[in-house]
Amino acid sequence: MMYYNFCPTCGSPINQEQKPGQRLICGECGMVIGEVVASPKNVIDPTAKWVESGAAAPCPICQQVVEVKNSGGKRSFVPHFQKGTRRMCQNSGKPVG
Ligand SMILES: [Zn+2]
Ligand SMILES: [Zn+2]
Repeated sequence: MMYYNFCPTCGSPINQEQKPGQRLICGECGMVIGEVVASPKNVIDPTAKWVESGAAAPCPICQQVVEVKNSGGKRSFVPHFQKGTRRMCQNSGKPVG
């Protein structure tokens, strides 16, 4: 959770409950402080769902979750780049597992 400790405008401490998605307004100066953001830990990773359904799988070479193509009962990794590069991963088009 990303909390605010002080008002950036007047420096007053935030003496109020902070919930995700809440727009904080300073009780002292009345300025909008910002929105409370839920920590990434609480955000559901969509790739976890894809892996579960078989639509994606973790690539053992580049360690990324890669989309899986299913043709004729054979599952293979779609062509993909290595993490942070424009280089094709060697597992592109290779069978899964
Ligand atoms: Zn303030
Ligand atoms: Zn890969």
